[in-house]
Amino acid sequence: MTNPLLSDWDTPFDLAPFAQIEDAHFEPAFDAAIAEHNAEIDEITGNSAPPTFANTVEALEAAGRSLSRVLSVFFTLAGADSTPERQALQRAFAPRLAAHSAQITGNKALFARISTLWEQREDLDLSEEQARVLMLTHRGFVRAGAALEGAADTRMQQIKSRLAVLGTQFTQNLLADERGWALELSEDDLEGLPDTTIAAMREAGRERGHDGPILTLSRSIITPFLQSSPRRELRETAWRAYVARGANGGDSDNRAIAAEVLALRQERAELLGYDSFADYKLETEMAGTPAAVRDLLMQVWEPARARAQDDARALEAMMHEDGINGRLEPWDWHYYAGRRRQAEHNLNEAELKPYLQLDRMIEAAFDCANRLFGLEFAPLDVPLYHPDCRAWEVTREGRHVAVFIGDYFARGAKRSGAWCSAMRTQARFPQVQTPVVINVCNFARGEPALLSYDDARTLFHEFGHALHQMLSDVRYESVSGTSVARDFVELPSQLFEHWLEVPEVLETFATHADTGAPMPRDMLERVLEAANFDQGFQTVEYVASALVDLEFHDGPPPADPMARQAEILSAIGMPREIAMRHAPPHFAHVFSGDGYSSGYYSYMWSEVMDADAFAAFEEAGDAFDPDLARALEDHILSRGGSVDAAELYQRFRGRLPGVEALLRGRGLIEG
Ligand SMILES: [Zn+2]
Repeated sequence: MTNPLLSDWDTPFDLAPFAQIEDAHFEPAFDAAIAEHNAEIDEITGNSAPPTFANTVEALEAAGRSLSRVLSVFFTLAGADSTPERQALQRAFAPRLAAHSAQITGNKALFARISTLWEQREDLDLSEEQARVLMLTHRGFVRAGAALEGAADTRMQQIKSRLAVLGTQFTQNLLADERGWALELSEDDLEGLPDTTIAAMREAGRERGHDGPILTLSRSIITPFLQSSPRRELRETAWRAYVARGANGGDSDNRAIAAEVLALRQERAELLGYDSFADYKLETEMAGTPAAVRDLLMQVWEPARARAQDDARALEAMMHEDGINGRLEPWDWHYYAGRRRQAEHNLNEAELKPYLQLDRMIEAAFDCANRLFGLEFAPLDVPLYHPDCRAWEVTREGRHVAVFIGDYFARGAKRSGAWCSAMRTQARFPQVQTPVVINVCNFARGEPALLSYDDARTLFHEFGHALHQMLSDVRYESVSGTSVARDFVELPSQLFEHWLEVPEVLETFATHADTGAPMPRDMLERVLEAANFDQGFQTVEYVASALVDLEFHDGPPPADPMARQAEILSAIGMPREIAMRHAPPHFAHVFSGDGYSSGYYSYMWSEVMDADAFAAFEEAGDAFDPDLARALEDHILSRGGSVDAAELYQRFRGRLPGVEALLRGRGLIEG
């Protein structure tokens, strides 16, 4: 039996032949592809010729093609069309993939060849992109510990495996605390709650064998409860349980784990020659240093805090009008903010929805891409992994650019959230390959399918990531498309969201599903205004967590993270009415794994850039200014990670981004 994952794909645009691929094909294909990759690396290290860029760095780039092909198909299905069998495969593949990449970065002969080239880099006559790929390759090995020897090498391995264990334990403890808490409610306690929340609470009760509604710490229950319940004492009970997650004592307490993680990260950074873990972590980011991150966050902090304090007084006055004396407490904020939102913005989602048809919003995204970059989209009839999937051929002036796939509807077998991934990334080496890009969302079905405004924004966001992949024009796959610094990767996606706010886009494409009438002007204005609501609170909540994350990793690791957090918050004057959204015992971004440790700031960093970048179009007085669109493509969207992110931004804007546009965008300063 031939395995389609390992055969040539004789399909239009070389798309994966999903109809022929069975789950049983994955494991043997995975084994074969890993073996092939190992053989390719043995060939590089076994080469008796002295290392050259071609026989080492380019050879590494060209290696592992089968593996990435198998994995791209597998992860597409595991995310968008999961089954218990695929979940089991995913659990089996994860540690083997980690071991495979550790084996490559731990390959001393390979590292020796890369190091030799790195030392000779000035004399190799490399292009800008080649020099960048060499730097990234070398740096990746060094950061993984390839240069360590003897006791230091051994200790690094111990630290890594201990951190992996602690990360898993942290996640499981948090889950245990979230699932362990529940409060039985009477019918009277349901006052003011939306029907959907009440239904979810009854369902949660049934799941636990209880014959009535229960309040749980699940996000989809506790959030609407805190926003809608007029029962102050119940809100306080719920809020206290929510903020205590991971800090309830006993087996599931995460406080000691957080302290140990911070100490091990510091030790790891020192072994690699860095002063602090934040120095180590930020080296690969656009921000570069802890000082740059702190500077950005503090510029946002002061105006956000001032706005939050004003808002606190306004909400407290509403509470006093209700006859409740005393100070506004953290468990009161969401409730009064919700009432204020209704009073001030009166945005009725039910009234809005018929204007936001999925098909029209897809057209809107395509139209913006056409006006900005000249891209054209023609529907393609190709078999994919699910009948929901739709595909388009993307061309420019008649030339093939990419295949774009949209898988928009929620299904039980689909992971929650929305994402963009490439089934094939753009590259010109070892041969030309054009991108195949997919957007996966979880929108509700309907005839026609209608979106909320948030959904429409998600559609534009993921399409912005897709443009970053589709417009990529680099030689090497390792720096293609979205392979950029973490604090740069959300720039194209968040930037594209701004085109949804260009009034003529909604005026053209937000048409009523039944009548075809365009969205009324006052509704359009209310939609755009509501986006800025409660930004003082949201910015304070976010920036406080980002600052604590940064300080935890910059300097001696705290023995008591809770005490250290209290110190940091008191130094910045945290408003007492706002609690930490992410206190250490439940700060999963930072402690469940390494991804966002001293990197939680990066969402705001990207937002500073997208606001500043869109301001360029505003200053030009044309959201579709052709020269700016070309500069955006030439300097950012086509370059992937082939040039340092700060350099790319400067080439586009002529300077680094400033925070003013973000502060204006969030309504935190006037103007
Ligand atoms: Zn994104």
